[in-house]
Amino acid sequence: MLRTLLLNFSLLITLAYLFSLTLRTWPLRQDLTFRAQATLTASLIAVVLLLQPAEVVPGVIIDMRPVPLVLLALVYGVPAAVVASVPMLLYRFALGGPGVLPAFLSIALILLVTAAVRRHFDSEDLPWPHLALLALVLFSPNGLPILLLPNGRELLAQLYLPLLALNVAGFLTAAVILRDRLRLVRLNALFQRQAQQDALSGLLNRRQFEEDLLHLQPGDLVMMLDIDHFKRINDTYGHAAGDQVITAIGQLLRSTLRASDPAYRYGGEEFAVILHAPQSGSSEMIAERLRSQIAQTPLLVGDEDSAVPLHITASLGGARHTASAEAQRTVALADQALYQAKQEGRNRWVIHREISSSQI
Ligand code: GH3
Ligand code: MG
Ligand code: MG
Repeated sequence: MLRTLLLNFSLLITLAYLFSLTLRTWPLRQDLTFRAQATLTASLIAVVLLLQPAEVVPGVIIDMRPVPLVLLALVYGVPAAVVASVPMLLYRFALGGPGVLPAFLSIALILLVTAAVRRHFDSEDLPWPHLALLALVLFSPNGLPILLLPNGRELLAQLYLPLLALNVAGFLTAAVILRDRLRLVRLNALFQRQAQQDALSGLLNRRQFEEDLLHLQPGDLVMMLDIDHFKRINDTYGHAAGDQVITAIGQLLRSTLRASDPAYRYGGEEFAVILHAPQSGSSEMIAERLRSQIAQTPLLVGDEDSAVPLHITASLGGARHTASAEAQRTVALADQALYQAKQEGRNRWVIHREISSSQI
């Protein structure tokens, strides 16, 4: 019997590990396809575990089949687990024996308890002792319906603790495998975001800009944006106020641009935007929209109770990438255009070698 249970345990761990490899994104996917995939996997694991049970008395078998169902219920809800338990229950029914009804009732009771405690379960950071306690609570009804059998009391006295220990051990091991995997995926997503993002503005950072320049296509437009007289803001209101302006401009760029047009903090109070193959005329429109949005939006700086609205402006310079140019050359041309906008009086845009600059 011990050998069979060990095999059951190994199967559970192997399958939980294999399933954990399919968890690749953070936050955990909640779409229907992934839910269906997880439901199917839990369902399959429950059936596989039922293929290798230990027979206690004829017709009464024990194994870890509730574990994948409980894990599924905790993450994706009890209804998913109810669906997932159907193939396993049908198979258990086909196996027959006096244990069929207790088997059905056990799963029902476990899922009821899971439904009751589910919202207290934090799949990310539950400490070990809490997780163990949770497992004890979740699997406590397991096997209790054996009492319905004629010799139920003796059978339960003999079975209850080994069954509980078995399922708790299986649950903890599988939960730790899945949790560690999710932790890894979550940290990976966090580090990836931090590596790409500028903390102050919330925009992409210079490193990501340089990387994206490698994929610049002919027809794409690089735009540089520099806040006008930014030094005065620092000098008049302090460096912290300057930082608030950088944050506000980051938000303004993000909300003004389409999600497909990435915006970067190039450095200091200078920003960059890549417009992917804008149609002729639309880069001017976007430059003008950015300029006017910045000029028209008062930015609140200072403490919340004594915040003052600042009216700031920015200058922009753009250049279209061509097949013959290096990406860095295009950036230099955009920078030249920005310089020209500054020279011509600021609060305006110039697009390199294109027809006109705005006349404000
Ligand atoms: P112009 O209109 O010609 O662009 O004038 P400007 O004052 O904006 O330009 P300048 O390049 O002379 O000044 C930029 C200033 O931005 C200098 C620097 O102290 C400040 N700065 C750079 N990075 C930061 C930052 O992260 N936070 C704050 N508060 N200030 C910054
Ligand atoms: Mg400036
Ligand atoms: Mg500058």
